[in-house]
Amino acid sequence: MTERNLVLLGPPGAGKGTQAERLVGDFDLPYYSTGIILREAVEQDTELGTQAKEYMDRGDLVPDELICNVIAERFDSGEADYGFLLDGFPRTVGQAEMLAGALEKRERSLTAALLIEAPDEEVVRRLSGRRTCVKNNHVYHVEFDPPKSEDVCDQDGSRLVQRDDDQPETVRKRLSVYHEQTAPLIDWYSEKGLLRRFDGTRTPEEVHSHIRATLATLALEAEI
Ligand SMILES: [Zn+2]
Repeated sequence: MTERNLVLLGPPGAGKGTQAERLVGDFDLPYYSTGIILREAVEQDTELGTQAKEYMDRGDLVPDELICNVIAERFDSGEADYGFLLDGFPRTVGQAEMLAGALEKRERSLTAALLIEAPDEEVVRRLSGRRTCVKNNHVYHVEFDPPKSEDVCDQDGSRLVQRDDDQPETVRKRLSVYHEQTAPLIDWYSEKGLLRRFDGTRTPEEVHSHIRATLATLALEAEI
């Protein structure tokens, strides 16, 4: 059976989360988002988890190498023998090199880096249109999924607000950080022939079938 060792890249609001859910369902892949697996390592009290907790308790960033080791620990657990989907790591070229090294040590390699792209203005439109209810965090969109009456939650009648994270200025700031960090990473994966681009402005169904077709082609190539 072919391995599907995948990294997911793309700006916030491009639909990565939706595609991740579908891919995980399609191929039964373990999904490794940095936040989730660090939290799990801490909860399970692994040695690396304990080290990571010390940084987190101090409010410090967990060092790249430690994050990579936590991920590699999951590679060795048996659950990722046929592949995995990484989201949020790597974010920089340094992290990508570390990941490549960890895989190489295990005589494995990345299958592809899947980049879901969307223009900045589209991301701003998607994210800044979101409204969240104050009571239960139900999410609406002023344009794509409006509530029946303005600024009121259909489900519990509570007030809808724009989260700080979704303010246009905040979104633009997040995007500029994303571009600064990720542009070199995209070039790096592109030079290695691992980058596959997808148009995040298409419908989730279209993006999903494009990704599936791409993965099927890669699997065929791997068997030749
Ligand atoms: Zn609500």
